[in-house]
Amino acid sequence: MTNAVQLLREYGLRATPQRILLVEVARNLPGHFTAEGVFERMKETYPTLSVVSVYRGLETLRELGLVTRTELGGDAAAYEWTEGERHHHLICTNCGCQTDLDDAEMIELRQHLLTRYGFHAAIDHLAIFGLCSFCADEQNQRLIAAQDQES
Ligand SMILES: [Zn+2]
Ligand SMILES: [Zn+2]
Repeated sequence: MTNAVQLLREYGLRATPQRILLVEVARNLPGHFTAEGVFERMKETYPTLSVVSVYRGLETLRELGLVTRTELGGDAAAYEWTEGERHHHLICTNCGCQTDLDDAEMIELRQHLLTRYGFHAAIDHLAIFGLCSFCADEQNQRLIAAQDQES
């Protein structure tokens, strides 16, 4: 894995000590994280750091395609270190389980939006909300049980 300094230079950013740490922290956090979570880890090294500057730093990385941001239904936006590799999520609104969705699933949708609407969709990190098969089954069973009672 290229080190943070090389990576920043590769993407045309000045490798300031704070940015190097931001990259190291963000890259090593598994899965989704919040700006707040990065801030918590960085303020040990930079006690005067503000959460706003962490947020700005993450947005810079996002513009370069190193991290993605998405609304996963929580209080804060979820960031994820992706370094150009896209993936998406199916999120169950009942039990909260998440299933990763390969970007290959979006190729047809992107193509369709382009041919149908001439729209170049930036689908970087999509969260689709709904019911997982388990919860959908459970809901069906409950519906059937309710109908049985009625008749
Ligand atoms: Zn994700
Ligand atoms: Zn579920």
